[in-house]
Amino acid sequence: MKPLIIANWKCNPKTRKDAEELFNKVKNGVKNTQKAEIVIAPPFVWLPILRGMTLAAQDCAWEECGPYTGEVSPQMLEGFGVKYVIIGHSERRIHFKETDEMINKKLKAILKAGLRPVLCIGEKKGENAKTIVSGQIETDLKDIAEKDLEKVIIAYEPIWAISTNEGEICSPEQAKAMLNFIRTKFNHRIIYGGSVDSKIVNGYLKVGFEGVLVGGASLRPDEFIKLIKNV
Ligand code: PEP
Repeated sequence: MKPLIIANWKCNPKTRKDAEELFNKVKNGVKNTQKAEIVIAPPFVWLPILRGMTLAAQDCAWEECGPYTGEVSPQMLEGFGVKYVIIGHSERRIHFKETDEMINKKLKAILKAGLRPVLCIGEKKGENAKTIVSGQIETDLKDIAEKDLEKVIIAYEPIWAISTNEGEICSPEQAKAMLNFIRTKFNHRIIYGGSVDSKIVNGYLKVGFEGVLVGGASLRPDEFIKLIKNV
């Protein structure tokens, strides 16, 4: 299986022109690369205008439609050719108070719409990593049938390693210990996220992660293209 490389653009870039420019640079830069499955996760509004690469959304509603002002459902995303949906990102858990119960409902809705959830889990600085991720996995994946679990991708992202937080490096060896721990609870695809760049990417892949979630480096097209070419 090729490594999965997901670019999480977060709330960037500011304008449509910049989004198109960033997307086209990446698309052209990686067009002959067969080494990885590359996925771009832009803000919702850019999804309909970006064509020619696999797309992910950064969040979704747990309902199909109805009186939920401001929400976008997995069914709507499916209609725009979106294949993956990131859920439970630490920024949504922290800034928007998303709970594991909400994340579990979103995960079920994504599967129902035929899309693939990318479930982010991870601990804050100073927290016990194993306790935190065990609790997240238990609640986020509650009542998911075995046949559906294989469609789920877990992204292990220690929050203290995310570049806009403490940005400390969680070494591939350190991350491997958590990978092995998560595998005792979830035996499907697990990727890594947290300050991944072109220099360190292979470290995470070599210890057994089956892909990476990339934030900051995915907004620098030359660096992101280099990251993919280095895989
Ligand atoms: C993220 O926030 O999902 C992330 C991986 O960010 P960064 O690569 O910037 O640490």
